[in-house]
Amino acid sequence: MTIGVDDDERAFPQLEDGKALEESWLQICSRLKGEVGEVEYRTWLTKIALGPVDGDEITLLLPTRFLRDWVRSQYGDRLSELWNQVMPAIRRVELQVARPGDPVAPPLALSEDPSDAVSIAEPEETPRSAPEVRSDLVTALDTRFTFDTFVVGKPNEFAYACARRVAEKPSSVGFNPLFLYGGVGLGKTHLMHAIGAELVQRGNVSVAYMSAEKFMYRFIAAIRSQSTMEFKEQLRSVDVLMIDDLQFLIGKDNTQEEFFHTFNALVDAGRQIVVSADKSPSDLSGLEDRLRTRLGCGMVADIHATTFELRISILESKAAASGVVVPAKVLEFLAHKITSNVRELEGALNRLIAHANLFGRPVTLEATQDVLHDILKAHDRRVTIEEIQKRVAEHWNIRLTDMSSARRARAVARPRQVAMYLAKQLTSRSLPEIGRKFGNRDHTTVMHAVSRVAELMERDPAFAEDVELMRRMLES
Ligand code: ADP
Ligand code: MG
Repeated sequence: MTIGVDDDERAFPQLEDGKALEESWLQICSRLKGEVGEVEYRTWLTKIALGPVDGDEITLLLPTRFLRDWVRSQYGDRLSELWNQVMPAIRRVELQVARPGDPVAPPLALSEDPSDAVSIAEPEETPRSAPEVRSDLVTALDTRFTFDTFVVGKPNEFAYACARRVAEKPSSVGFNPLFLYGGVGLGKTHLMHAIGAELVQRGNVSVAYMSAEKFMYRFIAAIRSQSTMEFKEQLRSVDVLMIDDLQFLIGKDNTQEEFFHTFNALVDAGRQIVVSADKSPSDLSGLEDRLRTRLGCGMVADIHATTFELRISILESKAAASGVVVPAKVLEFLAHKITSNVRELEGALNRLIAHANLFGRPVTLEATQDVLHDILKAHDRRVTIEEIQKRVAEHWNIRLTDMSSARRARAVARPRQVAMYLAKQLTSRSLPEIGRKFGNRDHTTVMHAVSRVAELMERDPAFAEDVELMRRMLES
């Protein structure tokens, strides 16, 4: 990369304290490289050149707008943080496209240390293609996400079993593609990494894992650098291709098209595909029909919202791994309060544990309420009964006033019951409180609604799906 490089040393800015910017930049680069991995680093961050300093702001230059936008969206915040840490005088980072004649320092090429190259997803031996071919496709797998650390319960046991099966026997009939779907923070990415880790551990299989977003950006970058053929060949050389969060491809027609062809080529060649999304193939509107059809051809596994029991098991397992004693009462409290997703649950527990370690105090219920008070407040505030009524009325196409009216026609009464059910599930309001908000109904009416809806959900999967969807919408 030689864009805008100026040979004149004097043009290179120095801060007053004499500490060379370059030295700081070197430090930042090596930190970043450690954080994002060799491939990411080489793909995006070596393209950055140092620009001028103006007061407390440093300008970083990138050769194209595309690169600037990508670096800004993916690494912008982290770059600011690191600059500020390494050089407190710098408070802001401005990312710009380099113009000819910009006074810039040459971009940095950190020494290539083979020990910190991304290698986790590389098989020991790769008969089909040379390692460097795929290295660009490999996102480092998170070593915390394994089958061992995944807690299995009713809501995720099917998805778990399918993931295990694919890890043991990739490309078996009926399991290709494996399509995992479910709400945010319920373990889709965890399971995909677990499949990858398991396959790589057993060796001799090449695995590529990336988010759909990254797939798109790689594809666009390949088009720009006129290397789409290479990109396609790389993709088609892997044994297992995993694409996370496929919903990001919605509306991106070219990328979908490319994915579709890659998908077909791989499946036809007997390779395994694993895809995740937030909805089932049939509910992913905006996806091309033929892609949707193919995605639904293998195994489709839903990860349901967590149950109280699963949340408790997950908390128990994470608390045990941390070595801090967390009383059952506290775990129950958390499992009751934080129902939205595992990521938040985990975050809350981690904060408690960090606190306990820092202050050497035992974890108690009072301490928990204190330490987590902002999170808990946010959760209480998260959904109001009014909001539930409004959304449910919209969804089932009834008037909002019917939530509190005396009308008993089923078309009105059923949605009203659903709203009561959701109010019970999603808020901490008592039955009498809920009843009051529904036209001063008695608490036994609410109780009846709750059990009636639960019963219907058991019996009618389509209805259950509707209610679940509603719940997810309200929780997100
Ligand atoms: P998703 O990709 O579905 O949004 P993730 O896989 O990123 O969710 O999960 C969010 C966090 O919750 C991760 O830290 C993951 O390890 C954890 N997690 C989710 N489900 C489980 C589970 N069943 N057992 C243990 N940890 C879980
Ligand atoms: Mg995910």
